[in-house]
Amino acid sequence: MSKVPQRDSKQEILVRKYLFSKGFRFRKNDKRLPGSPDIVLPKYKIVIFVHGCFWHGHVDCKYSRLPTTRHEFWKKKIETNVERDKHKNSQLESLGWKVITIWQCQIKNRDLERLRLERLIEEILSFGPQ
Ligand SMILES: [Zn+2]
Repeated sequence: MSKVPQRDSKQEILVRKYLFSKGFRFRKNDKRLPGSPDIVLPKYKIVIFVHGCFWHGHVDCKYSRLPTTRHEFWKKKIETNVERDKHKNSQLESLGWKVITIWQCQIKNRDLERLRLERLIEEILSFGPQ
């Protein structure tokens, strides 16, 4: 189980550094948008969330397995987070933003990280500048 999520996690910084090195320019933690997305690419109308698997209830992921102690407490807590995320995503989508989620487990080592970040660039470019 991970710690309480904090602003500018190691993973967020990693994704931002990569995007910046590829020439993308973005805003971070934009409070004007629902859920203040971790990364906002205004030119592409894309927002990116970098989510911890446990706290955001990544489906079928071993890192999101709930503890057996106080199981109901955690279940409820994580379900609330998942609902909140869904709500924010649909708000963002109705405002015309495309939402991309990067899960912690997808960038947990160098090889996975490279694959996920390369795919991220493809996703961004396929959506195209607005
Ligand atoms: Zn995961």
